[in-house]
Amino acid sequence: MSNGAHPTDPIYSDPVFQMAKRQFEIISDHLEIPHDRRERIIYPKRAISVALPIQRDDGSVDVFHGYRVQHHLAVGPTKGGTRYAANLTIGECAALAIWMSWKCALTGLPYGGAKGGIRVDPHTLSLHELEVLSRRYMQEMIPFVSPHTDVMAPDMGTNEQIMGWFMDTYSVHVGCAMGEIVTGKPVALGGLPGRREATGRGVIFLIERALDHLKIKPSECTAIVQGFGNVGSVTACGLAFKSGMKIVGISDHTVSLYDPKGIDVGAADRHVAQHGVLRDFPQGERVEARDFLTLPCDVLVPAAVERVITEENAGKLRCRILAEAANGPTTPDADEILNQRWDEIFVIPDILCNSGGVIVSYFEWVQDLQNFLWSDIETTDRLYRILDTAFTAVIKRSKEQKIPHRMAALAIGVERVMAARLARGLFP
Ligand code: NAD
Repeated sequence: MSNGAHPTDPIYSDPVFQMAKRQFEIISDHLEIPHDRRERIIYPKRAISVALPIQRDDGSVDVFHGYRVQHHLAVGPTKGGTRYAANLTIGECAALAIWMSWKCALTGLPYGGAKGGIRVDPHTLSLHELEVLSRRYMQEMIPFVSPHTDVMAPDMGTNEQIMGWFMDTYSVHVGCAMGEIVTGKPVALGGLPGRREATGRGVIFLIERALDHLKIKPSECTAIVQGFGNVGSVTACGLAFKSGMKIVGISDHTVSLYDPKGIDVGAADRHVAQHGVLRDFPQGERVEARDFLTLPCDVLVPAAVERVITEENAGKLRCRILAEAANGPTTPDADEILNQRWDEIFVIPDILCNSGGVIVSYFEWVQDLQNFLWSDIETTDRLYRILDTAFTAVIKRSKEQKIPHRMAALAIGVERVMAARLARGLFP
């Protein structure tokens, strides 16, 4: 890095941002990107922090903090999820925005990456408080977003309803219904029927593609899924009911459950729909969260938070495929270990593995802009074609250059972002 104006800024000293930056440095060295170009590619264009005062149900006033980071706008609007989490930081949003940029470039979508959210545990709010806080967040973001500047979507802790409130707040401001300001909306507002399931469906498609590549039958496989929210539950149910796998482990932030004979994930899904969490689900042996990812299985799917596969447990993983449904589940130190185990563990890197969500979000945005609706079959067919092209490109590059899958995926993404930024030139 060149003159070092930024590194002491708290955004950039955040550990998740540091992880994204370290990954970028490794790729930059591999691609031999000149040092004076690197800062321009890695640092986000805009990082917005807003204070969000709301009146609680008991009449008191609380101030929450919201963020949005837009990485680059070289090819179109930025695109990315909105996360509600008690420990959210602007640096984490910056890292997630950067990963979104590589992901959109890898899959050929005309977007830069963004990410944002509110530092709040949504479970501590009443429905009314959640609505007021969500509307206030979008209100504060209005100067910085538009269907051609930045398009939000759900992520951890947010859902279709929150996207509906975002759309309504923005639409009231502009004076007409503007569905294209967010994706992952309720179907009644122009959302796509399969958007909620899209990320998990993409994960399943890519796992099946990897198994086919390795000449392993899905029906003979066992799987462990960490996280039982939107992505994790859809993935676990799809692997069980569509691919025919035995799901031997599921977990969420309250409990980790393991049963080598198999867990009824349909029942777990109904349990979570009713109770919100897995905590009292009466199947499987309760295991320590720190031991969960190293239990034996064929397919391991981290579908919760960042940095769960570290130098501590990477050498102990006992899976054949690591399908990274979450963003940033594997640290660069763990990667070094996994790179040495490349013939044992087939990694489907996050920017490929969970890209189904943003691909279907793109379809939703395009249809909203054109007021032209596609059929469900058309949407799914196009999703699988894009995923297949990206998967093939990653495997090809990995083989040709004898580099790990993550490096191949990131190299393709970074190269495309760099090409776009260079072609735009430097203004003034
Ligand atoms: P969600 O809020 O619906 O679910 C998150 C799940 O993870 C919950 O079951 C929660 O209990 C669990 N969890 C949280 N902390 C945990 C921990 N320490 N250990 C075990 N489980 C834990 O979120 P989601 O939308 O399913 O997102 C999950 C991951 O997938 C995130 O990394 C997100 O960025 C990524 N992702 C989501 C989408 C999408 O479309 N929703 C798209 C791409 C990537």
